Parts: sequence; C-alpha cells; structure tokens
Amino acid sequence: MNRDYPLDSVRNFGIIAHIDAGKTTTSERILYYTGMSHKIGEVHEGNTVTDWMEQERERGITITAAAITCFWHPTYAMSADGKPDLAKKVRFNIIDTPGHIDFTAEVKRSLRVLDGAVVVFDGVAGVEPQSETNWRYADDGNVPRICFINKLDRMGASFERSFQSILERLNKNAVRMQIPIGTEENFEAVIDLLRMKSYHFEGEMGNQIIEKDVPAEYLEQAKKYRAELVEKIVEQDDTLMSAYLEGKEPSLADLKKTLRKATIEVKIIPVFTGSALKNKGVQLVLDAVVDYLPSPLDIPPVHGIDPRNGNEIYRHADDKEPFSALAFKLQNDPFVGALTFFRVYSGTIEAGSYIYNATTGEKERLGRIVRLQADKREEVKKVFAGEIAAAVGIKGAKTSHTFCDEANPIILDPIKFMKPVVSLRIEPKTKADQEKMGLALKKLSDEDPTFIISTNTETGETIVSGMGELHLEIMVDRMKREFSVEANVGEPQVAYRETITAEAEAEHKYIKQSGGKGQYGHVKITLKPMEPLVEGKKIPKNVKRYDDFEFIDSIKGGAIPQEFIPAVEKGVREAMGRGIIAGFPMVNISCELTYGSYHDVDSSEIAYKIAASQAFQDGAKRAKPVILEPIMKIEVSVPEKFFGDITGNLSGKRAQIEGFEDRPGGIKLIRATVPLSEMFGYTNQLRSMTEGRGMAPMEFSHYAIVPPQVEKQIVEGKK
Ligand code: GDP
Repeated sequence: MNRDYPLDSVRNFGIIAHIDAGKTTTSERILYYTGMSHKIGEVHEGNTVTDWMEQERERGITITAAAITCFWHPTYAMSADGKPDLAKKVRFNIIDTPGHIDFTAEVKRSLRVLDGAVVVFDGVAGVEPQSETNWRYADDGNVPRICFINKLDRMGASFERSFQSILERLNKNAVRMQIPIGTEENFEAVIDLLRMKSYHFEGEMGNQIIEKDVPAEYLEQAKKYRAELVEKIVEQDDTLMSAYLEGKEPSLADLKKTLRKATIEVKIIPVFTGSALKNKGVQLVLDAVVDYLPSPLDIPPVHGIDPRNGNEIYRHADDKEPFSALAFKLQNDPFVGALTFFRVYSGTIEAGSYIYNATTGEKERLGRIVRLQADKREEVKKVFAGEIAAAVGIKGAKTSHTFCDEANPIILDPIKFMKPVVSLRIEPKTKADQEKMGLALKKLSDEDPTFIISTNTETGETIVSGMGELHLEIMVDRMKREFSVEANVGEPQVAYRETITAEAEAEHKYIKQSGGKGQYGHVKITLKPMEPLVEGKKIPKNVKRYDDFEFIDSIKGGAIPQEFIPAVEKGVREAMGRGIIAGFPMVNISCELTYGSYHDVDSSEIAYKIAASQAFQDGAKRAKPVILEPIMKIEVSVPEKFFGDITGNLSGKRAQIEGFEDRPGGIKLIRATVPLSEMFGYTNQLRSMTEGRGMAPMEFSHYAIVPPQVEKQIVEGKK
C-alpha cells in the first residue's frame, strides 16, 4: 500500500493560545470550514436538526482530543503563478495544546510532536503574560509560528496595538500580512498585503470568501505596510534583494516562497487578523498554515539513541527508513476507548502488526489504528512517516515511549517533563475504594507524566505529586468523578529535596561470618555534586548518567567482580531515597566507585548493596548536605491602587521582585520568584486583597537551597 497523501501536503500543527483568546472558537470554525470543503455537493435540504446537533456534540468532544485530522482545500494554494490551485488538498493534523499555565507540561509535550503553530491572541489584550510563557517554550523548540490576532470585533480591540505588543514582547521579526478594514463593531474585512486585495466573508458562517479591491481610503496605508512587508521578505534572499534594489518588484510566488522559508527557519513571524466569532478571517489563516508552516519534510531529522550501543541515530521523514514513532498522549475516547496517540517519524506501521516498544523492550499487537475527525473515527490501515494517528487499546505504552522496528531499534529523545513540586496524601474511604483508587491513579498517571503516585514507606499512605495546587485539585477531582472513588485528601505539601554541596570519600565493609553462609561486601566511593552536562561532550563508557544521579564505575583489575557492580549502584540509589537531614529524596549526586574487595564464597549482591548504602549515608553526611526547595516564577497582575500592598506582601514571602510593567487598563504586572512553600492558598489571598481583581499565574522555576532558619522549620515539621 502506497502513501495515501503526499508528505508535502501534510501539516502537523497546534493552536497555542492564552486562555480565553478564542482557541475553542477558532478550532470550531476550522472544523466547520474543513468539514464543508469535503462535503461539498453532499449538503442537501432537509438535513435534520438532530443530525446537526449530534455532530456538534461530537465536535465538542473532538476539540479536546490530542489530535484531530481534517482536510483543507486552500483558497489560494501555492502555485507557480500564485493563482488558486483547487486540485490541491492538504491534510491537517491539529495537535491540542492547553492554555493553562498549570499544564505547561502539556504544552511542552505537544510542542514536541507538532511542526508549526498558530498562536491566537485576543485583539483587546494583545500579548498577555501566559502567551509570553508559551511563546518562550516554542522558542526553545524552534517551532515555526504564525499569529492570529482574534476578536477584532470586540470593543477596545486594536490590530495595531496588538501587533506592536507582539513586536515588543515576543519577536521583532513579526510582520503584518494583513490590515483590517474597520475595527470593533465596524470590523468588516481584511486586506491581504501581498495580494493587495480585500477579503470579505459572507454566506453561512462566512464560508463564502469575496475578493474585492482595496478601498480607496485604505490604499495609502496598505501600500505603506506592503512595502514594509516586501522589504522584510526580500532581505531574506540575496537575489531577490538585488533585483528589488534595482527597482524590480518580486513576483507573488517568489515572495511567498521566500517567506515560507523564512517562517520555517523562524526568521519571520507572519501576523494575520480577524474574528473567529464573527466568521471573518479564519480561512485565510488556514491558507497561511499551508503556505508558510512546514510539512514533515521541512523539519530536521529526529534524533535518538540506539539502545544496543548508545550510538546516536537520526531518522528522516521517509517511508523507506526503519519504523520509528513517539507516543505523545494517552487519552480515553468515548467512542472507541483507550487511545495512544503517536507520531511516526520514519517508516510505516500497519494495523494488525506487532509493535515494538523500545522504551520497555516489549512487543504488543497493534490492533486498530484510528484518526479522529470532526464527525467520525476513521479506521486507518497503515500509517506513514510524518503522520499522526492513535492506536486503540495498547496496554504497555506510556507518554514519551518510542515504538520502532525491532531489528533497527532506536529510543527517540524523551519528552522532558518537569518534576512535580507539590504532593498530598490521599486515603481511600473504604476497602472497596482502595482498589478502585489504585486503578484510577494508575490510569491518570499513565495519561499525565507529571502526576506521580508514590507510597510513604513508613506510614504506607498513598502520596500523589504534581505541578501545583490546581493541578492536584483537578486530578483528584477527576479521580473522584470519573472513577467514583471516595477518598480523604490531605493538605498540599512542598516536594523538598536534599543534595550535597561538597566532595566526600566513604568506605564501608559489610562482613558477617558467624554461622551458615557469610556475607562480604566492601566498597569505597567518592561523592560529589553532579556537574551539568556539557553539550557535545560524549559521556564516557563507565559513566551512567540519569536526570538527578550519576554513577561512575572506576573499578580496576576486578577489585569488585563486574556482576556485583549493579548492586552497588542500587544500594546508593536506595540510600538516596531518604535524605540525611530530613528524609527527603536526594538529587544531583555523582557517585564514583573507586575501590573495593571481595570474598570468593561470601560475597553477594545483598552484601554489596548494604555496603554501598552505608558508605553513601556516611559520605553524604560529610559532604555538606542541604535541603532544596522549589522556587516558582510568578506574574502578579493587579490594579494600580493595590500595587504597594501586594509587593509588600510578596516581600514578606521571601519573594525576589524581578521587575514591573504597566499593562493596559491601569494594571501593574509584578514579576517575581518566590518559594513555593510560601504560596499555598495565594490565589485566595490575592483575591481578597484586590477585591477579586488580582491574577497570579505561577510556574516552577528551579530548586534552591533553603536558608538556615527555614531549614530548621522544615526539620521541625513546621513548614
Ligand atoms: P479559549 O479559552 O481560548 O478556548 O477561548 P474560547 O474560544 O472559548 O473563547 C472565549 C470567549 O471569547 C468566548 O466567550 C467566545 O465566544 C469569545 N470569542 C472567541 N472569539 C471571539 C471573537 O472573535 N470575537 C469576540 N467578540 N468574542 C470571541
């Protein structure tokens, strides 16, 4: 079976938006317009209302799906002469990206599998603090973007002001692709600066696009901005530039081609505008997705490691290369059940075949594969390189696992999730709840890698950890509602850590030789704070590097037999689970095993484990241990008159104020970092201090050493 779709006609993209900017409304319009285009000719009179409503309902569910597939006939597909090319149809795989800051893990996850993004802004507010955060994540991933300034029909909306806020706060290479005709209640149409035409949206849901000349009163403005745009584009290409300097106007096709390249290289950010609610402009954004955002062929090859030898491998979006894919989201679909969404990076995979999970080393039969569309779940026989689909009912896979060809194994770079910083205790109400709770929590944490379940080894209590109070609240609420588990929930606690700040050597001999078989384990280790990875520097063969721990095997001449070395590592790891000062897990430690000895008969794994664990505890005590606490980045926005009170209050919370900004509407924005332990219940506190008008999105920044007086409080259990 050959490809069902040419790869250059596929766009995997996401819609990134601050909450309330209009992502849902825009997505609904996209499903409507794309649905229209492939149903042309099928629309006949007498379509029942229930039909329509059922579809709408299903659409509502689909919009929250991890990936939706739809098809778009570009209004003006790219062709040599820049004329409409109606034969061209493009497959969109739209990847969901959540807007709320407590779910940045989700944003990062989706950024990993999408190739480009449409960033939606509220035309009244322009760039908001959360849009900045998500923008930075997209910058980190070098994700090509186009912007859509939405809600231009709203009172107080301004294209120019919003555009300037993008230029100032996000990227100075943003360019106006359009300007609006009218604003607020007079917002009527958009002028396309490349074509120098205006576009009006009529008919049902604005699905008829009417092209007109630029109205005379807008001509001068349009010419001025067109010149700016053209200049910015020709700057990207020497040939175009010299022709332009000689007074030759570049062709539309050349401009689009150059702009496409620059957008994909994130050298230019094209900006569009409209109103999703009033059905104006969305189709032109879809055209822009086709014209300017990359296809899977335009992105760099994916990087991974050969699990057999640690060699680096790159895989290209090519059906002929060995199969590789990344599972990026587990989600329950009300119609087909448990889904594992995956992106194929290379090769192909067929329904009914076996799938090899390189992360777990296990094989599973891949029963059905589906694609979620607006009004149906399409069965897929084969998925090709560059595509996105969902497997039904796979059991062993989690988010970030790699599927691949067993004979050509690869582990793709895992999606990096932040470590949880808040935890709380949950206790099932009855015996029956206990079992249900276990299953529910497992399911939820399989879906969300930042939601972690653990057991307190002393009390046997179940502890859940997550990214913030709100995150845990929502997850616990889901557990109660979706899985009908009754449980008592404790107060949120800070996830403290411990580490060492100096070097120390330690040695331990564990010997038991009284009666029966004896025990003998002897190790000598050096503990150090772990150094950050140096990019491009190869990790030596004798070093095992993990996120928060490094184990170096420097044993020479068989002082400890190879077979016992994993036990030494295990002993150290276990000892790290309970810190020296207050029992918090220890992180960022480098442990070098330098020397030891063995006994022909008595040596055993358990003996080395115990010796290593004892040596570690002894060494860590002398390596200047400290407690670490999570520090949050916070952006508090409050009306001016509360500014003094709020900054005073923040200072009392050990906050470090990093800067202030004035926002439209007399709002002051305060940027600060502050220890998480001071911030529980802050949302409510802020609300009561600001007559309900303050906002304070918060996200994890880093771990820092706690000051001595705070350490004392923590050890005494007061914090
Ligand atoms: P999301 O939170 O980003 O998904 O935003 P929604 O699509 O749910 O929109 C938030 C609110 O803004 C809703 O009340 C929408 O009706 C409204 N909205 C969305 N787009 C527009 C628009 O273009 N113009 C106006 N006036 N309101 C809009």
